[in-house]
Amino acid sequence: MVYQADAERYQKMTYHRSGRSGLKLPAISLGLWHNFGDSTRVDNSRQLLRHAFDNGITHFDLANNYGPPPGSAEENFGRILREDFAPYRDELIISSKAGYTMWDGPYGDWGSRKYLIASLNQSLKRMGLDYVDIFYHHRPDPETPLEETMGALDHIVRQGKALYIALSNYPAELAAEAIGILKQLGTPCLIHQPKYSMFERAPDNGLLDVLIKEGVGSIAFSPLAGGVLTDRYLNGIPEDSRAASGSQFLSGDQLTPEKMEKVRQLNAMAQERGQKLSQMALAWVLRENRVTSVLIGASKTSQIDDAVGMLQKRDFSQAELQKISSILG
Ligand code: NDP
Repeated sequence: MVYQADAERYQKMTYHRSGRSGLKLPAISLGLWHNFGDSTRVDNSRQLLRHAFDNGITHFDLANNYGPPPGSAEENFGRILREDFAPYRDELIISSKAGYTMWDGPYGDWGSRKYLIASLNQSLKRMGLDYVDIFYHHRPDPETPLEETMGALDHIVRQGKALYIALSNYPAELAAEAIGILKQLGTPCLIHQPKYSMFERAPDNGLLDVLIKEGVGSIAFSPLAGGVLTDRYLNGIPEDSRAASGSQFLSGDQLTPEKMEKVRQLNAMAQERGQKLSQMALAWVLRENRVTSVLIGASKTSQIDDAVGMLQKRDFSQAELQKISSILG
C-alpha cells in the first residue's frame, strides 16, 4: 500500500533549534546503526521509518559503515526512501558520516580530504540522493591536519553535497579548535554528536559548555546505553535483544550486578515519576535544554512510542536530579 504520512505528525513532536543555526531538529531523532542492514527484514526497517515519521521524527541518522555489511543500511534506507518517502524529501533531515574504516587501503578510513569526499560520493549513490542534509566527520583523525579535514567539510558544503556539516566523537578541546577553523572558512559547524547518557556523562565535563558557548547544537548518541537504560534487561537477557545478538558493543557481561542494581533503582524512580525508565533516561539527556536531540535506536515501533511518550514528562525537580546523581555515583 502506498504510504501516506500521518497528517497529525507535527503536533506530536517538539522541535529544537540546533545551536545558533537556522535548522530545527526533532527532540527525538532515529539512528539506523542497528536494524537496517542486510541481516534485518526490510519490512521491519520500513515500519520503523514510517512510524518515526508519523510521530514527527524528521531526522534519520546514518553513516557510511552502518549495516552489516557496511553500506547496507544506506542502501536499504535509499530503497525505502524511493518507495515510501519520495514526496517527503523536503520534510526530512538525512545525515551521514565518514571516519571509520570503510574500504581497504590508505584512502578508506580516518579524515583525509580524499577519504571524506570519496566516501560521501559513495553514500549519496547508495541512498540515491543528490545531497545529504548533514555530513559528519565521524571521529577525530590523530594524523591528518585538522585544517585538511575541516577544509574538506567546507568544500563538500560548497559543492552542494551537504547542506550542513558536523562533528562526532571530538573531545572538548579539539571540538573547539575544529569549530574555530570552520567558522573562519565560513561553514559553521551545525552540531556535534557525542555519546551521552546517564551511564556516559563525559560531555558534562566541558564539551557541552563549549558547544553552547559556540552556538553549536548537540545530539546525544546511545542515550539509552544501547538498551541498558530501559526495562529490557531487568529479568535477564531476552533472545531478541541487542545483548543477545553477539554485538561487540553490548554483551551480557557488561550487565554486571552493580550496573543492574543502578538500573533497578533508576527504574523504581521512573515508576514513581509515572514513566518508563527509557523515558526518564531520555528526558535526563534533554534536561535544562542543553542538548538539541536524543538519537535513539529502535528494533520495534513500540520503542519509538515509548520515546515519544517521554515528551509528556520532561521536567525534573532538583531533588530528583540529585537522587539520579547519587544512584549513578
Ligand atoms: P540507544 O541507546 O537508544 O539504544 C537503542 C536500543 O535500545 C534499541 O535498538 C533497543 O534494543 C533498545 N531500546 C530502545 N528503546 C527501548 C525501549 N523503549 N524499551 C526497551 N528497549 C529499548 O541507541 P543506539 O546505541 O542504538 O544508538 C542510536 C544511534 O546513535 C545509532 O543508530 C546511530 O545513528 C548513532 N550512533 C552514533 C555513533 C557515533 O560514533 N557517532 C556510535 C553509535 C551510535 P533491542 O535491539 O534490544 O530492542
